[in-house]
Amino acid sequence: MAIISLGSMAFDAIETPFGKVEKIVGGSGTYVAYAASHLTKPIQQISIVGNDFPEDEMNELKKRGVELTGVEIVPDQKSFFWSGKYHLDMNARDTLITDLNVLANFNPTVPEEYQGAEFLMLGNLMPSLQLNVIEQLKIRPKLIVLDTMNFWMETALQDLKKVLLKVDALLINDSEARQLSGEYSLVKCAKKILQMGPKFLIIKKGEHGALLFHEDYVFFAPALPLEDVFDPTGAGDAFAGGFIGHLSHTNNISFENMKTAIIVGSVMASFCVEKFGPQRLKEISKEDIDLRLKQFVRLVNFDIALV
Ligand code: AMP
Repeated sequence: MAIISLGSMAFDAIETPFGKVEKIVGGSGTYVAYAASHLTKPIQQISIVGNDFPEDEMNELKKRGVELTGVEIVPDQKSFFWSGKYHLDMNARDTLITDLNVLANFNPTVPEEYQGAEFLMLGNLMPSLQLNVIEQLKIRPKLIVLDTMNFWMETALQDLKKVLLKVDALLINDSEARQLSGEYSLVKCAKKILQMGPKFLIIKKGEHGALLFHEDYVFFAPALPLEDVFDPTGAGDAFAGGFIGHLSHTNNISFENMKTAIIVGSVMASFCVEKFGPQRLKEISKEDIDLRLKQFVRLVNFDIALV
């Protein structure tokens, strides 16, 4: 099943307690595409880059079944640039620089050949652009997943509320869920957010896993306790790519299958953080993914005699 994926393709400068990189390829759309391409094809990318975005990277994505007809290349401008710094607690980070560059005038166009895709992943971008893409689709995909962040809640809340009414699943982290709902208890947050449009809500809690809410049901997926977390950048997008990639691969959007999908998302996120940028997502094989899925099963599997 095809996935249309909207998101940024960017350069990032990242500093973590374990190292520093000045300019590497990043962007929410890039991470989603690399993660999802391990599970399904085609990924139909919608994004914008400048004349500086490496051709090698484009070719690498194409090789993996990522279609780039919907990626606009602006000849005389620079790609989106983001810089962030992590401290010892890598669940929180400081954004140091956000240079919109080409993103400032982005007006996404859905190519004709993308029409009819069954899945839509709206990666972290301006809510107005996410809405714009939904409105261009002639046939509504069977599942629309939205990723967003606190920045849009602060600067574009009204637009965000409009998109929320049109999506099936929302992915946010715990502090964003609290910000959006005005509640502290994540159960209360979920109740409120599930009335804003989405039928499924995934609350990511970094190294503490993720919660999936639907109606009165809740399911928890842990994050794999890793010995070394090198760079958390893109973990949320890799999670999103794994989540929607699994749903598309199995062509099943039931709550039961979403439970497996958030485990697959957690697996992709666990790889992502092992190296700077999307590097680790490029290296891994099907065997690596299967091995890690088994580790997740062992992590949460136990027998118990009722008291
Ligand atoms: P994550 O760590 O999953 O939140 O994603 C990090 C990626 O998102 C980085 O590679 C950035 O280039 C990209 N990013 C950061 N801020 C924004 C933004 N405001 N809009 C779009 N992409 C962003």
